[in-house]
Parts: sequence; C-alpha cells; structure tokens
Amino acid sequence: MTSHITHWIFDLDNTLYSGDAEFFSQIDKKMTTFISEYLSLAPLDARKIQKDYLAEYGTSLSGLMAVHGMDPAEFLDYVHDVDLSPLIPCPNLRGAIDGLPGKKYIFTNGSQKHAKNVGEHLGVYDLFDGVFGIEDVDYIPKPQRSPYIKFCDVFDIDPKQAIMFEDSVRNLEVPKYMGMATVLVTSDADWSHEPAHARPASNSTTAEWVDHVTNDLAGWLHTSRQPSP
Ligand SMILES: [Mg+2]
Repeated sequence: MTSHITHWIFDLDNTLYSGDAEFFSQIDKKMTTFISEYLSLAPLDARKIQKDYLAEYGTSLSGLMAVHGMDPAEFLDYVHDVDLSPLIPCPNLRGAIDGLPGKKYIFTNGSQKHAKNVGEHLGVYDLFDGVFGIEDVDYIPKPQRSPYIKFCDVFDIDPKQAIMFEDSVRNLEVPKYMGMATVLVTSDADWSHEPAHARPASNSTTAEWVDHVTNDLAGWLHTSRQPSP
C-alpha cells in the first residue's frame, strides 16, 4: 500500500512520540504562562485566548503574532524549554524509520530547535533528510495551505509520491487534496479536557481525507513495508 511512496513526512509532537505521554502538557502549560504574562491576563483568560487562537490561526503563536504583533523568538524559546525525561523513546521507532525506502522529513508547527531536541531524545533525528519548523514557513502554520506548498517546493516533492503522518485530523486535509497519502496517528489517552480542535485524534476519529489510522506508528511503518499477500 506504500510501494509508490518515495517521501515520508512526519509531524513531530504527539506523532513521533505517543500522545499518551505526559510531555506535551508541559508545552501547553508554558504557553498559558507566557500569554498570561505577555498580555497581563489571569491564567484562565490566557488559556482561553491560547485555545481560541489555536482554533482560528492554526497555532496559538500565529494568533499572538497576528493580533498582538508579538515577536515569535522569545515565545518559542520559552515554551519549548521543557523536561524531555517523560518522553520514553519507542524502541522500535528508529529501525522503522531507518528502513523506509526514500527520503524522510519532519514538518512541525514547532520550532527547528524543538524538533532537534525531541528528535535527538527519541534517537531518530539523524535519520531525517530535512526538517521544517515554523520559522521555515514564515510562521504560517499547518493546516493553512501555504506551508505545505512551500515544504514541497523546497524539498522538490511530488505530493503523489508522498505520505504524511499527523496526530491532527485537520492537518491532513490539505496534503490529501494535494495528492498525498495520509496516516492519522491516534492516542489512547483521554484528551477530552482539551477543545476538540486541540486534541490528538482518538481511535474513533474519522475524516474522508484520512487514508489510514494507527495508534502504533512504528508498527504501522514496519507492516506497511511488507509485500502484500
Ligand atoms: Mg502534532
């Protein structure tokens, strides 16, 4: 089912590691603290703005830049300065990615530095042929169309020969209509405390632009390379 694929594109957070990990919540909380201080708001009000901007602009950062003219650098450094120890690297991930035929990429709405920190911690960073962070797309995040177009232009990728892995359903819609295959990486954890658009997908999530669903990325990659019976 992936024999035509020559380019493998991975989101980072809650995709290359499980959304079950108590890791991303650190970033989430640091965003609230930053916004609370930056806009002089009570934490609950800051959190509402954080989630509203995430829904409307694709990331909280984009909303802060668009509405308040915020400089992104300080925000990114602050929110991505997190403890990596809750992230337990999946022992099979390195072999699964290393064995993929073709080129491999990370395409994240986080920063380049965050991708490097997390990718190195997971023991897979050196396997990627390219890494695109939010700085590389002029801070215009997925799911808007322009970052996907720029990504494919820069790395000279034919979407019809590419596959994209994401924990966010909405971030797979544009790639599907560009011609990519799509894989939704789901979490078994309870994310119901988050607004629907801010949750990693659950196993029951479906959308017409999702080709495959898995809660085991390494296992899925391994199986996809087996010849069809
Ligand atoms: Mg993600």
